[in-house]
Amino acid sequence: MSELSMKDIKFLPGVGPKRAELFKKELNICSYEDLLYYYPYKYIDRTHTYTIREINGTMPYIQLRGKIVCYEMQGDGHKRRLTATFSDGTGSIELVWFKGVKYIQDRYKTGVEYTLFGRPTLFGNRLNIAHPEIDPVDTDIDVNAGLQPYYTTTEKMRSHFLNSKAVQKIISALWKNIPRQLPETLPAAVIARAHVIYLSDALYHIHFPASPDLLRKAQFRLKFEELFYLQLNILRYTRQRMRRLGGFPFHTIGKYFNRFYNELLPFELTGAQKRVLKEIRADVGSGRQMNRLLQGDVGSGKTLVSLMAMLMAVDNGYQACMMAPTEILAQQHYETLRPLVEPLGLRIELLTGSTRKKERDAIHEGLVSGAVHIIIGTHALIEDTVVFNNLGFVVIDEQHRFGVEQRSRLWRKNDRPPHVLVMTATPIPRTLAMTVYGDLDVSVIDELPPGRKPVTTLHRFDNRRADLYAAIRRQIEQGRQIYIVYPLIQESEKMDLKNLEEGFEQIKEVFPEYTVCMVHGKMKPAEKEAEMQRFVSGEAHIMVATTVIEVGVNVPNATVMVIENAERFGLSQLHQLRGRVGRGAEQSYCILVTSHKLSDDTRKRIEIMTRTNDGFEISEADLQLRGPGDMEGTQQSGIAFDLRIANLAKDGQILQLARDIAGEVLDDDPDLAKNENYVLARRLQELFRKKVDFSLIS
Ligand code: ADP
Ligand code: MG
Repeated sequence: MSELSMKDIKFLPGVGPKRAELFKKELNICSYEDLLYYYPYKYIDRTHTYTIREINGTMPYIQLRGKIVCYEMQGDGHKRRLTATFSDGTGSIELVWFKGVKYIQDRYKTGVEYTLFGRPTLFGNRLNIAHPEIDPVDTDIDVNAGLQPYYTTTEKMRSHFLNSKAVQKIISALWKNIPRQLPETLPAAVIARAHVIYLSDALYHIHFPASPDLLRKAQFRLKFEELFYLQLNILRYTRQRMRRLGGFPFHTIGKYFNRFYNELLPFELTGAQKRVLKEIRADVGSGRQMNRLLQGDVGSGKTLVSLMAMLMAVDNGYQACMMAPTEILAQQHYETLRPLVEPLGLRIELLTGSTRKKERDAIHEGLVSGAVHIIIGTHALIEDTVVFNNLGFVVIDEQHRFGVEQRSRLWRKNDRPPHVLVMTATPIPRTLAMTVYGDLDVSVIDELPPGRKPVTTLHRFDNRRADLYAAIRRQIEQGRQIYIVYPLIQESEKMDLKNLEEGFEQIKEVFPEYTVCMVHGKMKPAEKEAEMQRFVSGEAHIMVATTVIEVGVNVPNATVMVIENAERFGLSQLHQLRGRVGRGAEQSYCILVTSHKLSDDTRKRIEIMTRTNDGFEISEADLQLRGPGDMEGTQQSGIAFDLRIANLAKDGQILQLARDIAGEVLDDDPDLAKNENYVLARRLQELFRKKVDFSLIS
């Protein structure tokens, strides 16, 4: 490949310096290789042209050929639309545009023959095609050649006549200027084991598939290759690390753990909690360093598990720390854990940005001397002034709020890395966990403590407020507390704040006999803390808030979570917010309030939320709806972005295959030193030169 990466595309027929500049600026394509790896985003099956008579309402994207007979404007206001009658001699069908009306009429003349692509849908009892793609009947490209590739181009490119078709022609020229057989990037054994076609063939057929079957094979090969190298990279480093780094061995389960378990534990552990503790115990006793991701839905009892793991560390003479993403959360953990830890005669401290200097100095001293056994804190724990005597165990709560860099700074506080337990209530789909966290072991708490009633989730339209308020009032009369959450999104912060404040005033008016508090991200920490405290103490009946309460707040007496403008929240955020209720023994409710106008995606989100409480199902659905690039956690990894063709939401099976085969290759040749694996070692180096090694950090 490297030879092709040196050749500038400006030398290709049909390109030249000007277009080469455009390719570079707009798509970052410079070399032959860049162009070769610029895949089409879709294909149209041109092997078949349908007649209008054949069409029914259940067809996929199809091709027609015919003429526009006439245009007509219909409807008014926001229902205004342009329609056209399109006819091919066997019948006619309606075309519809809601946007770009003038452009369409100027561009596509009546009476001229066009090729048209679109998906026919049944509207009332008539078939129409909305926003079809229309092309002049093409004489250059053989329409019967097979599948027509479509390349993404930018506005600027198109204004210089570099549209999809032009790109296709350039790539066609490229193939005439390079050898048909390109150097292979996978060893023969891997190709055979994975049943994939050769790279040359795959690259050819991805651009010019002669049949749907060849296209599938090309896609499979290229997806496999991407995922294979990703896994090979992750697995190789993790295995190296395991060989290199020993962990602190925790030999004993000692008196602190046992006393806590036997005398202080306020309830029986759930089966899932016990299982996870056993998994942790096996890790920390093995002499290897533990890197474990603990997933469990909100309220599943992760905090308690982490406390018991920290006690294992203390039993073996080590210190433990727990890092939370916000002060409120750190404070809350501290208050939960202190009464459980102090009776054991252990010293537990809280260190945050607002810890006073005198106190902070004392804590620093206690950490250096070893007098402090367990420390809870925010990122204040990462500062260089914080020095431990013997840090052996680190718990990170709600990992997605911490950058990779921050985490690594924490564990560098020791010559040997401490064991790390990362806890998250936002379950990460398996495919993502595998990609982002590599060999991070995963534990799951998939069982809620007994006696919990699943939260009932309802959808209400925002013009039915009277009913909503009545329901809230009934709950408060029974002694319960209520959250009302408003979205706060960066771009429109001022507007949102106004919404929130108006909401707050309105709620105070509707519930004059009750106390209402308000919390949002623009408040000073002390002010926020004070308002939050009014709710935690039970003084305030209703809390009007933004998503600052999303993570971790624990008020078991709160039973109603009202989410205003629910259409503006993502699935995982909705699920997190819902997790704030249902923490006590009472039946809880989550009420999603929206306007009547809902997009398809919003409808799906609401449908999922009202149907299930299962965090894993929700995160899978989230991945499907949003795509991996948007998922929390992947932003920091930078990994998911670099996939050109594989899709983590859809290609889970290929990922698993890639991972299995990468594992086998490494079993046989851990350093990729064998002759037949030379191609792997070299390609890895090319691909991951600039990448941070994440597996070393998590
Ligand atoms: P998470 O951190 O997973 O959201 P927590 O650890 O905060 O959950 O636990 C939620 C609540 O459940 C806490 O009040 C905790 O004391 C309680 N809890 C945890 N484990 C159990 C258990 N096995 N039985 C009963 N209650 C439990
Ligand atoms: Mg928690």
